Amino acid sequence: MESAKIIDQQQFRDKLANVDRSGKRLWIFPKKPKGPLYNYRTWFSWLLMGLMFVGPWIKFHDKPLLMLNVLDRKFIIFGMVFWPQDLNLFALLMLTFVLFIILFTVVFGRVWCGWACPQTVFMEMLFRKVEYLIEGDANQQKKLQEADWTFEKIWKKGLKHGLFWVLSFIIANTFLAYIISIDELKLLVEDGPARHLGKFMALILFTTVFYFVFARLRELVCIFICPYGRLQGLMLDKNSIVVAYDFVRGEPRGRMVKDDPEKKGDCVDCKLCVQVCPTGIDIRNGTQLECVNCTACIDACDEVMVKINKPKGLVRFASLNGITRGKKFSFNPRNIAYSAVLTLLFSVFLFALITRSDIETTLLRTPGMLYQKQENNQISNLYNIEFVNKTFKDLDVKLKLIEPKGTIKMVENDQIHVDPESVAKVSFFVLRDAADIQKVSTPVKIEVYSNGELIETMKSKFNGPIFKKQ
Ligand code: SF4
Ligand code: SF4
Repeated sequence: MESAKIIDQQQFRDKLANVDRSGKRLWIFPKKPKGPLYNYRTWFSWLLMGLMFVGPWIKFHDKPLLMLNVLDRKFIIFGMVFWPQDLNLFALLMLTFVLFIILFTVVFGRVWCGWACPQTVFMEMLFRKVEYLIEGDANQQKKLQEADWTFEKIWKKGLKHGLFWVLSFIIANTFLAYIISIDELKLLVEDGPARHLGKFMALILFTTVFYFVFARLRELVCIFICPYGRLQGLMLDKNSIVVAYDFVRGEPRGRMVKDDPEKKGDCVDCKLCVQVCPTGIDIRNGTQLECVNCTACIDACDEVMVKINKPKGLVRFASLNGITRGKKFSFNPRNIAYSAVLTLLFSVFLFALITRSDIETTLLRTPGMLYQKQENNQISNLYNIEFVNKTFKDLDVKLKLIEPKGTIKMVENDQIHVDPESVAKVSFFVLRDAADIQKVSTPVKIEVYSNGELIETMKSKFNGPIFKKQ
C-alpha cells in the first residue's frame, strides 16, 4: 500500500502537466488566485506596467529617457547617447547584468520570473485578468471550452480575443516607441501607414507575435522557450530560496479525519496549490523547472492552513536546507565569489561610464597612399579622421599637431563642425619639410580640442622618403 503511494507520488517525473500521453497539449485553466501575495504582485505589476507605458513619453533634454534603436544602432539610456563605438561599455553592462541575474537566482531562485518578467506580468496581470472577467473562473472557463458554439460562447470568445488583440497592439506600439522613439511613432499615426509601410508592417508583426504569445503560447514560453528558465537547474542549489513545500511538516499528506491517530502531516491534500498554478505543476513534488515562483500556491495553501487552524507557511519561500535542517540562509563560497566578481564588474563599468568621452575620434592614414611631394620641398601624408558626437550639443573641433614638426592642412573647411548625435568625417594633410624627415616612418601625435578643451590625443604614423643630407 505504502509503495503504491510512493510510486503514485513519483509519477510526476514521467509526464508534463500540460501535455497528454499522445503529446497533445493540455490547456491549463488555473484557478483565480487570491491572497496577500497576489495583491502585492498586482500592485507591483501595475507599477511596472505604468513605468513601461509611460517610459517612451518621458523626455530628458528633449530626448527620450530610454531609446533602443537597434535599426540605426543608437541607444539612449537615462539621457546618455550610446553608439556602436561604446560596445565595450555595452558588453560590460551585459556581463554585469547576466552575473547579477545568476547571483540573484542562486540566492532567491526564480523571483524575477514570477514578479517582474514582462511575460508573466502581462500574462497574469493583464491577459489572464481579462479572461477571468469575461469567461469566469477556471471551472466556468473549462465548461465554456467544452460547450458547443452557442451565441454566448461566440460573443465571449470574440470579445476576449478582440481585447487580447487590442492589448497586444498597445504593447506593440509601446515597444516600437522604445525602438524608434515616441516622436517617430506619432509621425506614423499622423502621416498614416501608407507613408511608413515598413514601420507599420513591423507594428503589425509585433502585435501578432504578442497576441500569439499571450493567447496561445502562455506557460510554454516559461517552460520551453525562455533560456533563463532552462538554466534554472544549473543555478539553484540546496541553499537557494525558492517557493517550496515543507514536506517535513506536510507529510504524510491526507484528508483530515477527526481523531485519526495515523494522520501526522499538515497537508490535507486539497490540491488547491495545484489548481492555482499557472504552469499546472504540483509544488509538493519539489522544486521544478516549470515553477516560476509566482507564489499563487503560497496564498492558496495559507488560506487552507488558516481554515484548519494550522500555522501558515506550509508552502513558503524557503531553501531545501532550511526545510530539512531548519537552517537559515547563509552565504556560501559560491555566492561570495559571484558577489565579488559582480562588484568588480560593476565598478569597472561605472569607471568606464564616468570616464567616457563625449566625442569619439578615429584617426587613420588614408589607405593605399604612401606620401605626396608638395611645393616648397615639402612631403605630405593624407589622413582621415572621424568624430562621433555623443552629446545633444553642437561641437566645434580643432586639431593641433604635437609631433613631429610640421603643419596640418584641412582638405576642405578649416573649421570642423559636428552636429549633435552625429558622425562627421574629414580629411587633412600633415605637411613636413623634406629636410626634417630622418626615418621612413615617424610617429605622429595630434591633439583634438572640442570647444577649446583637449578631449583626446591621437597617434598615427608619417611615412616619407629619406633624403640624404648634402
Ligand atoms: S508551483 Fe506555485 S509558485 Fe510555482 S508556478 Fe506554480 S503556483 Fe507559482
Ligand atoms: S494547498 Fe496546502 S494543504 Fe492543500 S494540497 Fe497544497 S500543500 Fe496540501
